[in-house]
Amino acid sequence: MLALDSLSKHFGGVRAVDGISLTLKEGEIFGLIGPNGSGKSTTINLITGLYTPTTGTVRLDGRDLTAMAQHERTAMGVARTFQNIRLFGNLTVAENLWVAQNGHEQRRAHFLGRWFRAGGEHSPEIGELLKFSRLHSKRDVQASALSFGEMRRLEMARALASRPRVLLLDEPAAGASREDGQILAERIRETRDRGVTVLLIEHMMELVMGISDRVAVLNFGRKIAEGSPAEVQANADVRAAYLGS
Ligand code: ADP
Ligand code: MG
Repeated sequence: MLALDSLSKHFGGVRAVDGISLTLKEGEIFGLIGPNGSGKSTTINLITGLYTPTTGTVRLDGRDLTAMAQHERTAMGVARTFQNIRLFGNLTVAENLWVAQNGHEQRRAHFLGRWFRAGGEHSPEIGELLKFSRLHSKRDVQASALSFGEMRRLEMARALASRPRVLLLDEPAAGASREDGQILAERIRETRDRGVTVLLIEHMMELVMGISDRVAVLNFGRKIAEGSPAEVQANADVRAAYLGS
């Protein structure tokens, strides 16, 4: 459903992504792993349109997204979380979800947030997302006042609020406890079961190997392996990339 074909992104002499081809099937959880600096976040940035590729294409259900702006890709059903959390700190938890659900642009968020406080309605869907993310008791708390773990949960809820078909998660468990990682894994599974295709970048191996249907491994911007979690874990090139030997 989501197809990357010979995708590259060069920054000067750095080949952050260097000719990657990948195909995600509808309804699967696809893990994307690799050492630091191997091009994982850049790949997500190319899928969402934050970066323009040096070469290659991104297609969703056969439609070429490569020349589309970020908001057009969001409208097509592509949503993401950021490795470095990006929330509207001055808006409440519920307002962050409302803004995401209604697709408003960043520069209007502050104004809209005020309008929202003055009488805008929460949709039932936002109530559901708050429960799903265990943020119900925090709905009227400013995002900047949340704990780190709560911010991560809000970041994912916000991506879901745009009703995506493909959800791109960039290290959603970073800094999380093992227990929170397990709850997150359950939430990602539930999201997939609701029909959302998931691309999961994650360092917590237990998490990514436990829930992914397939996994691809990047090293120096190239795909060095792809297969089931068991196949990838047994792959000699993958072991070498991680051990640096
Ligand atoms: P990962 O997410 O796998 O840790 P990244 O995709 O963030 O890796 O980065 C891959 C490489 O591209 C790194 O060498 C990084 O320094 C470089 N890079 C990423 N974004 C930029 C940028 N905006 N400008 C210059 N270099 C970048
Ligand atoms: Mg990264």
